[in-house]
Formats: sequence, structure tokens, C-alpha cells
Amino acid sequence: MSNPRLEIRNLSRRFAGQFAVDDVSLRLEPGQVTCLLGPSGCGKSTTLRIVAGVERQDSGEVLIDGALVCDGTRSQPPELRNIGMMFQDFALFPHLSVWENVAFGLKGAKSIRRARAEELLERVDLAGYGAQMPHELSGGEQQRVALARAVAPGPRIMLLDEPFSGLDDRLRDGIRDETLEVLREAGTAVLMVTHDPGEAMKMADEIALMRDGKIVQKGAPYTIYNSPIDKDAASFFSDINVMVGKVKGALAKTPFGEFFAPGHADGTILDIV
Ligand code: ADP
Ligand code: MG
Repeated sequence: MSNPRLEIRNLSRRFAGQFAVDDVSLRLEPGQVTCLLGPSGCGKSTTLRIVAGVERQDSGEVLIDGALVCDGTRSQPPELRNIGMMFQDFALFPHLSVWENVAFGLKGAKSIRRARAEELLERVDLAGYGAQMPHELSGGEQQRVALARAVAPGPRIMLLDEPFSGLDDRLRDGIRDETLEVLREAGTAVLMVTHDPGEAMKMADEIALMRDGKIVQKGAPYTIYNSPIDKDAASFFSDINVMVGKVKGALAKTPFGEFFAPGHADGTILDIV
């Protein structure tokens, strides 16, 4: 069997004694989109930063195509990992033209770099914009330039950290779909962070639900949506009603009536979802 494109094994990272990332493991195949979904502060960005090589772990390993890129002691520098990144606060180089921004990570003769940049600009519907300067473009157009720049060197893995949350609703869906189409086509494995369940449902092949540094559930979007592991996972996806009941004689008594609760001792307090 071939190696996964990206494998994260038992990754942990503490800040001031507190786990930011706590024993996280993930596998991504080429062309697969995995969403790390969870509330603010649960460790999503730290996980991505360790994979990118801009943050170190305390323990655990990251492998790309079966090759170790970092463990607790050794670490391959970020620029050698062939990983693309797009973050919310992406920045284009203001003094470089649009095509020069896209070609920034490319090697070779200027004419070849320019041709490749123009090809990518066409791919993100910005044909003819190459000679403009970033400030002449709208926010959504700049985002697409950033996307073209990130995919230009043909990364094996793309890390997206809420890159669409700064865009207004009107633009977001289009750019998001376009981004994924470009990445899937290229066979890039995508690890994407979001705190928006709707976005994860729409985009992911697999969702990894994170809480307090841990992955609490992993699966296909509809599996997680239909069979959440607990009431916190359920309430993350939709508004649910939780009632508190006290068990007596295999019945839980709530303000809204009694519910059958076999196997629970009298006096037990239950959450009824
Ligand atoms: P998320 O991206 O899910 O919002 P983060 O990975 O940014 O969460 O942060 C996880 C936890 O680690 C938070 O409690 C955050 O305050 C803490 N943290 C992240 N980076 C640092 C750092 N460089 N120094 C100290 N604490 C940090
Ligand atoms: Mg974050």
C-alpha cells in the first residue's frame, strides 16, 4: 500500500504547561480535503503551523509521502517541505506586479516564470491582470492572486487557515469553490481550518472535530452530522434542545415530561438531547 500524502502521528504541543495540541493523528490522501473544525482556541492553527514547520512540537511526527519531516528533535525547514499555505491575513508583495507575485516561488527564466504565472491567473479568472499592481485589485481579486501564488510551485500539500473568513458573503462561496477545484485537480492534499460547520460540511471529504487540543471525532461530513459523538458535537452543528432530567425508576423526569432511561441508577442527572 502506498503512503498517505500527509501523516500526522500523535502530535502534541504545550504552551506554559497547557496542551494546545494533544495527541493529534491524521492521514490525508492526495486530492483529499480534510477540515479541522472546532471552536476558537482548540488548537487548529497550532496543528497547521507544526505541519508547515513554523512551530515545533513537543512530541509526535509529521510525514510527507512516508518521509519523516519532523519529530520532537529534528525538523526539516519549511521551505524544503513543498507545502503551500493560505491564511486569512494573506499578503501580496505590494511592490511587485500581480504576475510577479504569482511567480515569486518559481525558478527559471523570466519568460517561463511569466508564462506559468499568466496560465495560473487565467485559471483563477484573472487573465489580463498580470501587469497590474496589487492595490489596483479588489479584495476578492487579491485573494485569487494569493491562491495562484500558493499553487504555483505545485505543492504536495496545501494548508488553509480560515482563508475565506475575511471575504464578504457575496464572494466567499465562489472563491472557496474555485480554490478547491484548483487544488483537487492538482491532486494536492488539503488540510483546512475552520470554525464554521457549514463551511466544513460543504468542503470536506473528512471532518476532524477538535476540542481542547484533541480530535474528538473524525469522519465523513454526514456521518459526523448524523451521528455526533456527544451533545457538544451535536450542538456545534445545529441548535439542539438539551434538557436535564433526574432518573427515578428508569425514567428521567424533566420539566417537559418523562423520558425512558433504562440502565441509569436512581438520582442520576442526565442530559437529554
Ligand atoms: P485555534 O486556531 O483553534 O483558535 P490555536 O492553535 O491558535 O487555536 O491555539 C490553541 C491554544 O494555544 C490557545 O489556548 C492559544 O492561546 C495557545 N497558543 C497558541 N500559540 C501560542 C503561543 N505561541 N504561545 C502561547 N500560547 C499559544
Ligand atoms: Mg486559529
